Amino acid sequence: MTIDSYKFAGKKAIVRVDFNVPLDENGKITDDTRIRGALPTLKKILADGGSLIIMSHMGKPKGKVNAKYSLSQIVDAVSEKLGTPVQFAPDCAKAAEAAAALQPGEVLLLENLRFYAEEEGKPVGIEKTDPAFEEAKKAMKASQKEFAKTLASYADCYVNDAFGTAHRKHASTAVIADSFGADDKMLGYLMEKEVLAVDNVLSNIKRPFTAIMGGSKVSTKIGIIENLMDKVDNLILCGGMTYTFAKAQGGTVGKSICEDDKLDLALAIIEKAKAKGVNLVLGVDCVAADDFSNDANTQIVPSNNIPEGWEGLDAGPKTRELFSAAIKDAKTILWNGPAGVFEFDNFTGGSKAIADAIAEATKNGAFSLIGGGDSVACINKFGMADQVSYISTGGGALLEAIEGKILPGIAAIKGE
Ligand code: AMP
Repeated sequence: MTIDSYKFAGKKAIVRVDFNVPLDENGKITDDTRIRGALPTLKKILADGGSLIIMSHMGKPKGKVNAKYSLSQIVDAVSEKLGTPVQFAPDCAKAAEAAAALQPGEVLLLENLRFYAEEEGKPVGIEKTDPAFEEAKKAMKASQKEFAKTLASYADCYVNDAFGTAHRKHASTAVIADSFGADDKMLGYLMEKEVLAVDNVLSNIKRPFTAIMGGSKVSTKIGIIENLMDKVDNLILCGGMTYTFAKAQGGTVGKSICEDDKLDLALAIIEKAKAKGVNLVLGVDCVAADDFSNDANTQIVPSNNIPEGWEGLDAGPKTRELFSAAIKDAKTILWNGPAGVFEFDNFTGGSKAIADAIAEATKNGAFSLIGGGDSVACINKFGMADQVSYISTGGGALLEAIEGKILPGIAAIKGE
């Protein structure tokens, strides 16, 4: 079923959203992007004459009630954004009466799902090494099913619009879908957009395809790099990874971030790229600093010849040109991870060059997907969010999708 074809009139819809918004010490929302992201879905259901039961997690309360993570703190903000009063159910597993009383156009927000350990379905207070762990796990899976059934009992249909948690097999993101027939469960608009964006870079590829992988380490990106190797024309590897590659090829990298146990892996990636005919683009020069700080002294040096006591914190000018050249003519672009320590204003140049080239390509008709926490922070820092095709809301979920993994939250609805 799709959200556009479902008849919500007179129906109760239980919608899983990601309202895990950051709060300040007074419980005020500091960034409401996630709430805004879910509004199209929520408003569509209300406009069609349905009623809403909204559910979400917030933070990591680990199965215990904790006022710090109470969703009661965001009731007013949600109400204001939806333009209608929002009722609050202070116990998400005891909301049957409040849900039953909902009239068309009314909204009920459930308290944080993760106040129940059943949401995540992991046994609490017992170590994996404990002989009783397997039993506890089985018991928890059984009570997770019951918890999901309780949530499902509140509504006629289920909508999942929480891409950020789509890679988790939790009660509200996946297990609950078992209680609804194929005609009564669907993805929300945000999820549909995310799925389409991932499809554009994994299946429906316009060429040339350039992927830019940055960030600090090879080890955390290896699954993605391997999956992309079969798909891309150009693969730019930048950021801290640069120095593992430089050292693996016999270079000296000073005190740059370097994974000494991944040198063989780096060489294997270089070989694999050659074998597959992928144009692997690595940094040739860098902005080296004598300290890990914004005010450090700097010099431009070759990435494979960094003086003792210095560390590469950003891509150098020659490298920026190489990166731009591989990006500008691309028709499909994926960017995950900055090219330098972009948190320091003096080391944003490499990432800015990438962002500029992506903006130019996008203007010329490329599809560009930016995702994974830090590159999103980066593009926002440059104020360029409106110059790319799509910015993903999912960190881990996006990365797993790009690795080629099936996301449980999506599989539960599409039956894959
Ligand atoms: P990740 O979470 O793996 O995507 O890494 C993002 C982080 O990598 C950011 O906080 C950057 O500051 C950091 N990073 C990027 N380039 C470098 C570098 N050359 N040295 C150290 N850290 C870096």
